[in-house]
Amino acid sequence: MKFNTKTIHGGQKPDKAYGAVMPPIYQTSTYAQSTPGGHRGYEYSRTHNPTRSALENAFASIENGNYGLAFGSGLAAIDAVIKLLQPGDEVLSTNDLYGGTYRLFTKIFEGFGITFRFIGMGNASHIEDYVTEKTKLLWVETPTNPMMNIIDIKAVAAVAKKHQILLAVDNTFATPYLQQPLDLGADIVMHSATKYIGGHSDLVMGALIVKDEELSKRLYFIQNASGAICGPQDSFLALRGIKTLHVRMQRHCENGKAIAHYLKTHPKVDNVYWPGFEDHPNHHIAKEQMSDFGGMVSFTTKEDSYDGVVKVVEKLKVFTLAESLGGIESLAGHPASMTHASIPKEEREKTGVKDSLIRLSVGIEDIEDLIADIKQALG
Ligand SMILES: *Cc1c(COP(=O)(O)O)cnc(C)c1O
Repeated sequence: MKFNTKTIHGGQKPDKAYGAVMPPIYQTSTYAQSTPGGHRGYEYSRTHNPTRSALENAFASIENGNYGLAFGSGLAAIDAVIKLLQPGDEVLSTNDLYGGTYRLFTKIFEGFGITFRFIGMGNASHIEDYVTEKTKLLWVETPTNPMMNIIDIKAVAAVAKKHQILLAVDNTFATPYLQQPLDLGADIVMHSATKYIGGHSDLVMGALIVKDEELSKRLYFIQNASGAICGPQDSFLALRGIKTLHVRMQRHCENGKAIAHYLKTHPKVDNVYWPGFEDHPNHHIAKEQMSDFGGMVSFTTKEDSYDGVVKVVEKLKVFTLAESLGGIESLAGHPASMTHASIPKEEREKTGVKDSLIRLSVGIEDIEDLIADIKQALG
């Protein structure tokens, strides 16, 4: 089955009871047993729920994995991955990272004796300089948030295989429409399904997808033992979201490209960060491992006073000023005062997050309206 067919049919069967084409929302915590232990595959909804199972099958299908696991948030999914480790283990992570992931690693898991090192992975050969006997996991985000850096998943996977380290890729920004990390050698794919997978800004959810059976068993054990699952209602919404992922992503990519090119020629814009430009430092890798360049575009304005930039985002009318990304509606964010406000100015400027940086999650509205909106806000 090809990708666009998988988003609609992958892992799905009509419901056994009445043939419902969409899986019913099994809003139940428990299941009747005919005799102790005599159940029909479902006994308690932390462990399994038929609506969640349908979603987990869809996750596995669209990422070319064998097993999918759904969680109550993206961070709950990451939490489950780190629980594969033991005190004393080390993790090497990309340094340009989603802020919540950084917080979970440093403020929670460092307290349990796991060490995290944040390094640039733009050149994969540098990773080996940091690998020790204790290194058990490589954590990669690509494209990164908000600077849109690209990391070569195949090259990182080669390092991971050589040293027998697990490789996990946060595929939230790209989605499997653009990039399929398991096929490039990753062991675990993670999603904040809150973003493009759900696609309608109406749920918070996380996902893990793996190929290896043994690894899936360890993760299912953690999912059930720690219990950070998502409910049946949200599972239904995410399944519905997945069915249009390919058509939404196609338009996100078209609109993202048009906005990136518009910004590039605008006299008040300084730099535009979008992996589709030939002068993007890792454009050649993006072209190789992604089928298109996505709907996320960041840029800096020449006006670099904090107040001046805040005025620009406040003036936007079609773009909504808000956290999050990946929904059908266009959103704008000001990382310095929003997602990255907790990082000291000197620290965030090291990775390029200046006061003048604006991040756009380009939606699927008419492109003329989006460009007119940016024009009036910058003008
Ligand atoms: C939002 C996000 C997360 C966290 O996911 P939640 O669903 O908010 O818990 C992790 N990684 C990336 C890249 C994200 O954008």
